[in-house]
Amino acid sequence: MASLIGRLPLRVGRTLNFAFFLFFSFSLYNSTYAADPYAIVLGTAQDGGFPQAGCSKKCCATAWKDITKRRFVSCVAIVDPDSGQRWMLDCTPDFRDQLRLLDQAQPKRPDGPLLDGIFPTHAHVGHYTGLMMLGREVLGAQSVLVYAMPKMKYFLESNGPWSQLVKLNQIDVKRLAAGQESRLNERLSITPFLVPHRDEFSETVGFIVTGPHAKLAYLPDIDKWERWEVKIESLIADVDHALLDGTFFDSDELPGRDMSEIPHPFVQESLGRFATLESTERQKVQFIHLNHSNPLLHAKSDARATVQNAGCRLARQWNPGTPQLARIRL
Ligand SMILES: [Zn+2]
Ligand SMILES: [Zn+2]
Ligand SMILES: [Zn+2]
Repeated sequence: MASLIGRLPLRVGRTLNFAFFLFFSFSLYNSTYAADPYAIVLGTAQDGGFPQAGCSKKCCATAWKDITKRRFVSCVAIVDPDSGQRWMLDCTPDFRDQLRLLDQAQPKRPDGPLLDGIFPTHAHVGHYTGLMMLGREVLGAQSVLVYAMPKMKYFLESNGPWSQLVKLNQIDVKRLAAGQESRLNERLSITPFLVPHRDEFSETVGFIVTGPHAKLAYLPDIDKWERWEVKIESLIADVDHALLDGTFFDSDELPGRDMSEIPHPFVQESLGRFATLESTERQKVQFIHLNHSNPLLHAKSDARATVQNAGCRLARQWNPGTPQLARIRL
């Protein structure tokens, strides 16, 4: 090729050289892009999933009938396609199906671990009980790394059946510290941050995952924005994607239950707070961790239109049928 260009008049040769340069940089760019790390949402429901056990009310009726309407419990996977590494934020009662989803997005490396790490946010049932699948009765995993805050780590080590996973070295629990960044690999890192929540068994954290192109915040559970010393708006400003607690849409969602016992920022309250933000800030927000009673679970609801009109979004459970659609580039 060089000799062909050498025989052409100088100007044509330069143009061709430039064309080849463009072509090669473009393909290099494309292959780089294809291998960028990404996040996928493996579940968008509150701890009880959707539909929820025992619910025969209108909220869950369609999801009982139509399996495609079901949503797994809130969970995010981080994938580095270059190295084949895979991490999970939260380990839910739907672990079986979510691991299957993740395998479809990025298969386990033949000689690699089941997962490269699991990061439970706290010890409420939707966020760690999937660990039971790693035990003797099911996967019989070996030394799966679980990264936990100090109380969460102590809780796992000192209560059965989790303590057996530790004793049999099926999980290897590493300690995290709030505000301290841990490297996942040379391109990705993760930082936990403490938030106020009903901390019966453990502290509660959210996570910020930082990739070469973007930052993602995952915060599925918090009591109320006002109870946190950090302004939620500053968290949104700090990241490119903010997956935030959207448990309840508004205050009259659970008739007969005292909602002050299970405080969360209502989506309506969040939208009210975010209304003064620039549209680029509002676009970062994706609500996740939706209770079965939340009307946002229904495609044609007024609630969905309200969120859309407010310039925010709903987190979308990844679907192997449209694999590129719900990928969040990191
Ligand atoms: Zn939860
Ligand atoms: Zn229901
Ligand atoms: Zn919780």
